[in-house]
Amino acid sequence: MKETAKLKRIAILGSTGSIGTQALEVIAAHPQLFEAEVLCAHSNATLLIAQAKQFKPNAVVVTDETKYTEVKEALGSLPIKVFAGAGALADVVAWDSVDIVITAIVGFAGLHSTIAAVKAGKRIALANKETLVVAGDIVTRLASETGATVIPVDSEHSAIFQCLAGEDYSQVEKIILTASGGPFLGKKPNFLVNVKASHALQHPNWTMGAKITIDSATLMNKGLEMIEAKWLFGLENEQIDVVIHPQSIIHSMVQFTDSSVKAQMGLPDMKLPIQYALAYPGRVHNDFKRLDFKEFSKLSFEQPDYKTFRNLALAKDAMYKGGNAPGVLNAANEVVVHAFLQNRVSFIEMSDVIETVGTRIAFIEQPTLEDHEQSDKEARIRAAELVKKSQLSH
Ligand code: NAD
Ligand code: MG
Repeated sequence: MKETAKLKRIAILGSTGSIGTQALEVIAAHPQLFEAEVLCAHSNATLLIAQAKQFKPNAVVVTDETKYTEVKEALGSLPIKVFAGAGALADVVAWDSVDIVITAIVGFAGLHSTIAAVKAGKRIALANKETLVVAGDIVTRLASETGATVIPVDSEHSAIFQCLAGEDYSQVEKIILTASGGPFLGKKPNFLVNVKASHALQHPNWTMGAKITIDSATLMNKGLEMIEAKWLFGLENEQIDVVIHPQSIIHSMVQFTDSSVKAQMGLPDMKLPIQYALAYPGRVHNDFKRLDFKEFSKLSFEQPDYKTFRNLALAKDAMYKGGNAPGVLNAANEVVVHAFLQNRVSFIEMSDVIETVGTRIAFIEQPTLEDHEQSDKEARIRAAELVKKSQLSH
Protein backbone atom coordinates (compact mmCIF):
# COMPACT_ATOMS: atom_id res chain seq x y z
CA MET A 1 0.00 0.00 0.00
CA LYS A 2 1.19 3.51 -0.80
CA GLU A 3 2.33 5.40 2.27
CA THR A 4 0.51 8.67 2.81
CA ALA A 5 2.85 11.64 3.12
CA LYS A 6 2.77 13.58 6.37
CA LEU A 7 0.95 16.89 6.14
CA LYS A 8 3.50 19.73 6.17
CA ARG A 9 2.46 22.82 8.09
CA ILE A 10 3.73 26.00 6.56
CA ALA A 11 4.40 29.56 7.71
CA ILE A 12 4.47 32.10 4.89
CA LEU A 13 6.30 35.33 5.63
CA GLY A 14 5.03 37.77 3.00
CA SER A 15 1.83 35.90 2.11
CA THR A 16 0.29 38.85 0.24
CA GLY A 17 3.18 39.27 -2.23
CA SER A 18 3.87 37.68 -5.58
CA ILE A 19 5.67 34.65 -4.10
CA GLY A 20 3.33 34.48 -1.09
CA THR A 21 0.16 34.31 -3.16
CA GLN A 22 1.66 31.71 -5.50
CA ALA A 23 2.74 29.65 -2.48
CA LEU A 24 -0.88 29.69 -1.31
CA GLU A 25 -1.98 28.47 -4.76
CA VAL A 26 0.41 25.53 -4.39
CA ILE A 27 -0.95 24.79 -0.90
CA ALA A 28 -4.56 25.05 -2.13
CA ALA A 29 -3.84 22.59 -4.95
CA HIS A 30 -2.44 19.94 -2.54
CA PRO A 31 -4.44 20.08 0.69
CA GLN A 32 -3.45 16.47 1.46
CA LEU A 33 0.24 17.52 1.54
CA PHE A 34 0.41 21.12 2.72
CA GLU A 35 -1.43 23.29 5.20
CA ALA A 36 -1.05 27.01 5.97
CA GLU A 37 -0.17 27.28 9.67
CA VAL A 38 0.81 30.97 9.83
CA LEU A 39 0.31 33.82 7.37
CA CYS A 40 2.28 37.07 7.70
CA ALA A 41 2.07 40.30 5.74
CA HIS A 42 3.03 43.91 6.16
CA SER A 43 0.15 46.26 5.39
CA ASN A 44 -2.26 44.70 2.90
CA ALA A 45 -4.85 43.92 5.60
CA THR A 46 -7.66 43.31 3.11
CA LEU A 47 -5.83 40.51 1.32
CA LEU A 48 -4.41 39.05 4.54
CA ILE A 49 -7.95 38.85 5.99
CA ALA A 50 -9.28 37.18 2.85
CA GLN A 51 -6.40 34.67 2.88
CA ALA A 52 -6.98 33.92 6.57
CA LYS A 53 -10.69 33.28 5.96
CA GLN A 54 -9.88 30.93 3.08
CA PHE A 55 -6.93 29.02 4.57
CA LYS A 56 -7.89 29.15 8.29
CA PRO A 57 -4.31 29.26 9.64
CA ASN A 58 -3.57 28.92 13.33
CA ALA A 59 -2.26 32.51 13.37
CA VAL A 60 -1.69 35.62 11.28
CA VAL A 61 0.88 38.36 11.80
CA VAL A 62 0.49 41.86 10.43
CA THR A 63 3.82 43.64 10.83
CA ASP A 64 2.37 47.11 10.25
CA GLU A 65 0.91 47.64 13.73
CA THR A 66 -1.56 50.28 12.56
CA LYS A 67 -3.47 47.46 10.80
CA TYR A 68 -3.86 45.27 13.87
CA THR A 69 -7.38 46.38 14.89
CA GLU A 70 -8.72 45.97 11.37
CA VAL A 71 -7.35 42.41 11.09
CA LYS A 72 -8.30 41.43 14.63
CA GLU A 73 -11.90 42.64 14.22
CA ALA A 74 -12.34 40.97 10.84
CA LEU A 75 -11.14 37.61 12.18
CA GLY A 76 -12.69 37.96 15.63
CA SER A 77 -15.24 35.19 15.18
CA LEU A 78 -12.68 32.66 13.91
CA PRO A 79 -10.23 30.59 15.98
CA ILE A 80 -7.22 32.43 14.49
CA LYS A 81 -4.62 34.17 16.66
CA VAL A 82 -3.72 37.66 15.47
CA PHE A 83 -0.35 39.26 16.24
CA ALA A 84 1.13 42.58 15.19
CA GLY A 85 4.65 43.92 14.72
CA ALA A 86 7.87 42.58 13.24
CA GLY A 87 8.88 41.09 16.60
CA ALA A 88 6.04 38.55 16.39
CA LEU A 89 7.59 36.97 13.26
CA ALA A 90 10.55 35.64 15.25
CA ASP A 91 8.15 33.89 17.66
CA VAL A 92 5.80 32.26 15.17
CA VAL A 93 8.54 30.81 12.94
CA ALA A 94 9.91 28.94 15.96
CA TRP A 95 6.61 27.22 16.84
CA ASP A 96 6.71 23.41 17.00
CA SER A 97 3.65 23.36 14.76
CA VAL A 98 5.61 24.96 11.89
CA ASP A 99 7.43 22.49 9.62
CA ILE A 100 8.48 24.84 6.80
CA VAL A 101 8.98 28.59 6.69
CA ILE A 102 8.64 30.30 3.32
CA THR A 103 10.60 33.55 3.48
CA ALA A 104 8.90 35.76 0.90
CA ILE A 105 9.33 39.19 2.50
CA VAL A 106 11.11 41.56 0.14
CA GLY A 107 14.46 43.13 1.04
CA PHE A 108 16.53 43.58 4.18
CA ALA A 109 13.25 43.60 6.14
CA GLY A 110 13.26 39.80 5.78
CA LEU A 111 16.62 39.27 7.48
CA HIS A 112 15.59 38.92 11.12
CA SER A 113 12.70 36.56 10.60
CA THR A 114 14.84 34.36 8.33
CA ILE A 115 17.54 34.22 10.98
CA ALA A 116 14.92 33.36 13.61
CA ALA A 117 13.75 30.43 11.45
CA VAL A 118 17.35 29.28 10.99
CA LYS A 119 17.96 29.49 14.74
CA ALA A 120 14.85 27.36 15.30
CA GLY A 121 16.35 24.72 12.96
CA LYS A 122 13.44 24.84 10.51
CA ARG A 123 13.30 23.92 6.87
CA ILE A 124 13.36 27.22 5.05
CA ALA A 125 12.02 27.68 1.54
CA LEU A 126 14.05 30.78 0.81
CA ALA A 127 12.77 33.42 -1.57
CA ASN A 128 14.16 36.44 0.29
CA LYS A 129 17.53 36.50 -1.53
CA GLU A 130 18.56 39.77 0.15
CA THR A 131 19.06 37.82 3.40
CA LEU A 132 21.89 35.77 1.88
CA VAL A 133 23.29 38.76 0.01
CA VAL A 134 23.67 40.72 3.24
CA ALA A 135 24.52 38.00 5.74
CA GLY A 136 25.16 34.78 3.83
CA ASP A 137 28.14 33.94 6.01
CA ILE A 138 26.19 34.26 9.25
CA VAL A 139 23.07 32.49 7.94
CA THR A 140 24.96 29.49 6.52
CA ARG A 141 27.11 29.13 9.64
CA LEU A 142 24.03 29.28 11.88
CA ALA A 143 22.20 26.76 9.71
CA SER A 144 25.03 24.25 10.01
CA GLU A 145 24.91 24.66 13.79
CA THR A 146 21.14 24.30 14.18
CA GLY A 147 20.48 21.77 11.42
CA ALA A 148 18.20 24.17 9.54
CA THR A 149 17.96 23.36 5.85
CA VAL A 150 17.71 26.17 3.34
CA ILE A 151 15.99 25.14 0.10
CA PRO A 152 16.04 27.77 -2.65
CA VAL A 153 12.84 29.14 -4.17
CA ASP A 154 14.55 31.51 -6.59
CA SER A 155 14.13 29.75 -9.94
CA GLU A 156 17.83 29.81 -10.89
CA HIS A 157 18.91 28.42 -7.54
CA SER A 158 16.14 25.84 -7.56
CA ALA A 159 17.45 24.78 -10.99
CA ILE A 160 20.99 24.39 -9.65
CA PHE A 161 19.72 22.59 -6.55
CA GLN A 162 17.76 20.19 -8.78
CA CYS A 163 20.84 19.63 -11.00
CA LEU A 164 22.87 18.83 -7.88
CA ALA A 165 20.45 16.22 -6.54
CA GLY A 166 22.46 13.02 -6.05
CA GLU A 167 25.72 14.73 -7.04
CA ASP A 168 28.92 15.26 -5.06
CA TYR A 169 29.15 19.04 -4.56
CA SER A 170 32.96 18.87 -4.66
CA GLN A 171 32.71 17.80 -8.32
CA VAL A 172 31.12 21.11 -9.36
CA GLU A 173 33.44 23.09 -11.62
CA LYS A 174 31.12 26.05 -12.03
CA ILE A 175 27.53 27.10 -12.13
CA ILE A 176 25.97 29.13 -14.92
CA LEU A 177 23.10 31.38 -13.86
CA THR A 178 20.78 32.27 -16.71
CA ALA A 179 19.27 35.75 -17.00
CA SER A 180 16.47 36.77 -19.31
CA GLY A 181 18.12 40.16 -19.78
CA GLY A 182 14.91 41.94 -18.78
CA PRO A 183 12.94 44.45 -20.83
CA PHE A 184 16.02 46.46 -21.89
CA LEU A 185 18.13 43.64 -23.31
CA GLY A 186 20.35 44.99 -26.10
CA LYS A 187 19.71 48.64 -25.19
CA LYS A 188 22.54 51.12 -24.67
CA PRO A 189 22.97 53.97 -22.14
CA ASN A 190 21.59 56.59 -24.57
CA PHE A 191 18.28 54.69 -24.50
CA LEU A 192 18.31 53.86 -20.78
CA VAL A 193 18.79 57.48 -19.79
CA ASN A 194 15.11 58.17 -20.47
CA VAL A 195 13.35 55.03 -19.31
CA LYS A 196 10.65 55.32 -16.67
CA ALA A 197 9.47 52.91 -13.99
CA SER A 198 6.30 52.06 -15.95
CA HIS A 199 8.52 50.82 -18.78
CA ALA A 200 10.94 48.97 -16.52
CA LEU A 201 8.03 47.20 -14.81
CA GLN A 202 7.13 45.40 -18.07
CA HIS A 203 9.16 42.22 -17.65
CA PRO A 204 9.03 39.98 -20.75
CA ASN A 205 8.80 36.57 -19.03
CA TRP A 206 7.87 36.91 -15.35
CA THR A 207 5.25 38.75 -13.25
CA MET A 208 6.81 39.61 -9.90
CA GLY A 209 6.83 42.23 -7.13
CA ALA A 210 7.89 45.75 -8.11
CA LYS A 211 11.32 45.70 -6.46
CA ILE A 212 12.59 42.50 -8.09
CA THR A 213 11.10 43.59 -11.44
CA ILE A 214 13.21 46.76 -11.39
CA ASP A 215 16.21 44.69 -10.27
CA SER A 216 15.62 42.45 -13.30
CA ALA A 217 15.61 45.47 -15.62
CA THR A 218 18.92 46.76 -14.19
CA LEU A 219 20.42 43.22 -13.92
CA MET A 220 21.01 43.89 -10.21
CA ASN A 221 18.80 40.86 -9.67
CA LYS A 222 21.39 38.65 -11.37
CA GLY A 223 24.16 40.25 -9.33
CA LEU A 224 22.25 39.53 -6.11
CA GLU A 225 21.69 35.98 -7.36
CA MET A 226 25.43 35.44 -7.88
CA ILE A 227 25.97 36.27 -4.19
CA GLU A 228 22.95 34.17 -3.18
CA ALA A 229 24.40 31.19 -5.10
CA LYS A 230 27.81 31.60 -3.52
CA TRP A 231 26.35 31.03 -0.05
CA LEU A 232 23.69 28.47 -0.95
CA PHE A 233 26.15 26.15 -2.69
CA GLY A 234 29.42 27.05 -0.93
CA LEU A 235 31.14 28.25 -4.12
CA GLU A 236 34.23 30.32 -4.82
CA ASN A 237 33.57 33.59 -6.65
CA GLU A 238 35.34 32.27 -9.78
CA GLN A 239 32.90 29.35 -10.01
CA ILE A 240 29.91 31.60 -10.69
CA ASP A 241 29.06 32.61 -14.26
CA VAL A 242 26.14 34.43 -15.84
CA VAL A 243 24.75 33.99 -19.33
CA ILE A 244 21.86 35.85 -20.95
CA HIS A 245 19.14 33.47 -22.16
CA PRO A 246 16.15 35.56 -23.27
CA GLN A 247 13.61 32.70 -23.46
CA SER A 248 13.88 31.80 -19.72
CA ILE A 249 13.45 28.08 -20.47
CA ILE A 250 16.78 26.91 -19.04
CA HIS A 251 16.62 28.15 -15.45
CA SER A 252 20.33 27.57 -14.77
CA MET A 253 23.10 25.02 -15.26
CA VAL A 254 25.89 23.19 -13.46
CA GLN A 255 29.16 22.23 -15.12
CA PHE A 256 31.03 19.34 -13.48
CA THR A 257 34.73 18.46 -13.32
CA ASP A 258 34.32 15.92 -16.13
CA SER A 259 32.96 18.70 -18.46
CA SER A 260 29.36 17.43 -18.28
CA VAL A 261 26.76 20.20 -18.05
CA LYS A 262 23.33 19.65 -16.46
CA ALA A 263 20.47 22.08 -17.01
CA GLN A 264 17.02 22.31 -15.49
CA MET A 265 14.29 23.47 -17.84
CA GLY A 266 10.65 24.38 -17.75
CA LEU A 267 8.22 27.12 -18.61
CA PRO A 268 8.74 30.21 -16.47
CA ASP A 269 6.36 29.69 -13.54
CA MET A 270 7.45 30.35 -9.95
CA LYS A 271 4.93 27.83 -8.64
CA LEU A 272 7.26 25.04 -9.76
CA PRO A 273 10.30 26.07 -7.64
CA ILE A 274 7.94 26.90 -4.76
CA GLN A 275 6.35 23.45 -4.97
CA TYR A 276 9.76 21.78 -5.30
CA ALA A 277 11.01 23.52 -2.13
CA LEU A 278 7.90 22.41 -0.21
CA ALA A 279 7.83 18.84 -1.49
CA TYR A 280 11.60 18.20 -1.48
CA PRO A 281 13.01 15.56 -1.66
CA GLY A 282 9.91 14.30 -3.44
CA ARG A 283 8.15 15.49 -6.57
CA VAL A 284 4.43 16.07 -6.75
CA HIS A 285 2.24 15.72 -9.83
CA ASN A 286 0.50 18.95 -10.83
CA ASP A 287 -1.43 20.42 -13.72
CA PHE A 288 1.08 23.13 -14.73
CA LYS A 289 1.42 23.73 -18.46
CA ARG A 290 4.10 21.45 -19.92
CA LEU A 291 7.10 22.66 -21.92
CA ASP A 292 6.54 21.93 -25.61
CA PHE A 293 9.82 22.12 -27.53
CA LYS A 294 7.92 22.69 -30.77
CA GLU A 295 7.02 26.15 -29.41
CA PHE A 296 10.67 26.96 -28.74
CA SER A 297 12.58 26.30 -31.93
CA LYS A 298 15.46 28.44 -30.69
CA LEU A 299 17.10 28.74 -27.29
CA SER A 300 19.74 31.46 -27.49
CA PHE A 301 22.59 32.65 -25.28
CA GLU A 302 24.76 35.75 -25.13
CA GLN A 303 27.19 37.48 -22.82
CA PRO A 304 25.82 40.08 -20.39
CA ASP A 305 26.68 43.71 -21.17
CA TYR A 306 28.46 44.67 -17.92
CA LYS A 307 29.29 48.16 -19.25
CA THR A 308 25.69 49.18 -19.91
CA PHE A 309 24.13 47.30 -17.01
CA ARG A 310 26.58 48.53 -14.39
CA ASN A 311 24.62 47.15 -11.45
CA LEU A 312 25.67 43.65 -12.45
CA ALA A 313 29.34 44.68 -12.41
CA LEU A 314 28.88 46.52 -9.10
CA ALA A 315 27.28 43.46 -7.50
CA LYS A 316 30.02 41.20 -8.82
CA ASP A 317 32.66 43.55 -7.36
CA ALA A 318 30.84 43.54 -4.01
CA MET A 319 30.82 39.73 -4.07
CA TYR A 320 34.60 39.64 -4.60
CA LYS A 321 35.15 42.28 -1.93
CA GLY A 322 33.01 40.39 0.60
CA GLY A 323 32.52 41.53 4.21
CA ASN A 324 29.86 44.21 4.49
CA ALA A 325 30.20 45.26 0.81
CA PRO A 326 27.24 43.19 -0.49
CA GLY A 327 25.05 44.52 2.36
CA VAL A 328 26.00 48.11 1.53
CA LEU A 329 25.25 47.47 -2.14
CA ASN A 330 21.89 45.95 -1.20
CA ALA A 331 20.89 48.84 1.06
CA ALA A 332 21.80 51.48 -1.53
CA ASN A 333 19.94 49.48 -4.16
CA GLU A 334 16.77 49.27 -2.05
CA VAL A 335 16.82 53.05 -1.64
CA VAL A 336 17.36 53.83 -5.32
CA VAL A 337 14.80 51.29 -6.53
CA HIS A 338 12.21 52.83 -4.21
CA ALA A 339 13.12 56.31 -5.50
CA PHE A 340 13.07 55.16 -9.15
CA LEU A 341 9.56 53.73 -8.66
CA GLN A 342 8.53 57.21 -7.49
CA ASN A 343 10.34 58.90 -10.38
CA ARG A 344 12.82 60.62 -8.01
CA VAL A 345 15.96 59.20 -9.62
CA SER A 346 16.75 58.09 -13.18
CA PHE A 347 17.58 54.57 -14.36
CA ILE A 348 21.24 55.45 -14.95
CA GLU A 349 21.59 57.40 -11.71
CA MET A 350 20.64 54.29 -9.74
CA SER A 351 24.07 52.79 -10.59
CA ASP A 352 25.84 56.10 -9.85
CA VAL A 353 24.34 56.21 -6.35
CA ILE A 354 25.10 52.55 -5.60
CA GLU A 355 28.70 52.96 -6.77
CA THR A 356 29.28 56.14 -4.71
CA VAL A 357 27.70 54.71 -1.56
CA GLY A 358 30.00 51.69 -1.91
CA THR A 359 33.05 53.96 -1.65
CA ARG A 360 31.74 55.92 1.36
CA ILE A 361 30.93 53.24 3.93
CA ALA A 362 33.82 51.86 5.99
CA PHE A 363 34.73 48.33 4.93
CA ILE A 364 34.33 45.61 7.55
CA GLU A 365 35.90 42.30 6.62
CA GLN A 366 34.07 40.05 9.08
CA PRO A 367 30.90 41.85 10.08
CA THR A 368 28.66 40.74 12.93
CA LEU A 369 24.90 40.99 12.57
CA GLU A 370 25.04 44.32 14.41
CA ASP A 371 27.71 45.54 11.97
CA HIS A 372 25.42 44.58 9.08
CA GLU A 373 22.58 46.55 10.62
CA GLN A 374 24.78 49.58 11.13
CA SER A 375 26.18 49.43 7.57
CA ASP A 376 22.67 49.05 6.21
CA LYS A 377 21.50 52.16 8.10
CA GLU A 378 24.50 54.26 7.04
CA ALA A 379 24.25 53.16 3.42
CA ARG A 380 20.55 54.09 3.34
CA ILE A 381 21.28 57.57 4.70
CA ARG A 382 24.07 58.11 2.14
CA ALA A 383 21.96 56.83 -0.70
CA ALA A 384 19.01 59.03 0.28
CA GLU A 385 21.30 62.10 0.35
CA LEU A 386 22.55 61.31 -3.14
CA VAL A 387 19.02 60.68 -4.45
CA LYS A 388 18.04 64.16 -3.23
CA LYS A 389 20.71 65.62 -5.53
CA SER A 390 19.06 64.11 -8.61
CA GLN A 391 17.46 66.56 -11.04
CA LEU A 392 14.30 64.45 -10.79
CA SER A 393 14.01 65.03 -7.03
CA HIS A 394 13.53 68.77 -7.47
P1 NAD B 1 6.24 41.49 -3.24
O1 NAD B 1 6.57 42.93 -3.15
O2 NAD B 1 5.24 41.03 -4.24
O3 NAD B 1 5.76 40.98 -1.81
C1 NAD B 1 6.46 41.31 -0.65
C2 NAD B 1 5.79 40.70 0.59
O4 NAD B 1 6.59 41.10 1.72
C3 NAD B 1 4.38 41.21 0.85
O5 NAD B 1 3.60 40.16 1.37
C4 NAD B 1 4.55 42.29 1.93
O6 NAD B 1 3.45 42.39 2.81
C5 NAD B 1 5.78 41.78 2.68
N1 NAD B 1 6.58 42.87 3.24
C6 NAD B 1 7.06 43.95 2.58
N2 NAD B 1 7.75 44.74 3.42
C7 NAD B 1 7.69 44.15 4.65
C8 NAD B 1 8.18 44.48 5.93
N3 NAD B 1 8.87 45.61 6.14
N4 NAD B 1 7.94 43.62 6.94
C9 NAD B 1 7.23 42.49 6.77
N5 NAD B 1 6.73 42.13 5.55
C10 NAD B 1 6.96 42.94 4.52
O7 NAD B 1 7.64 40.73 -3.46
P2 NAD B 1 7.90 39.35 -4.22
O8 NAD B 1 8.10 39.60 -5.67
O9 NAD B 1 6.94 38.31 -3.79
O10 NAD B 1 9.35 39.00 -3.65
C11 NAD B 1 9.56 38.49 -2.34
C12 NAD B 1 10.98 37.97 -2.23
O11 NAD B 1 11.13 36.86 -3.10
C13 NAD B 1 12.05 38.99 -2.66
O12 NAD B 1 13.15 38.87 -1.84
C14 NAD B 1 12.37 38.58 -4.07
O13 NAD B 1 13.69 38.89 -4.45
C15 NAD B 1 12.20 37.07 -4.01
N6 NAD B 1 11.87 36.45 -5.31
C16 NAD B 1 10.72 36.78 -5.92
C17 NAD B 1 10.41 36.20 -7.17
C18 NAD B 1 9.12 36.50 -7.86
O14 NAD B 1 8.83 35.88 -8.89
N7 NAD B 1 8.30 37.40 -7.38
C19 NAD B 1 11.32 35.32 -7.76
C20 NAD B 1 12.48 35.02 -7.08
C21 NAD B 1 12.77 35.58 -5.85
MG1 MG C 1 15.64 34.49 -9.95
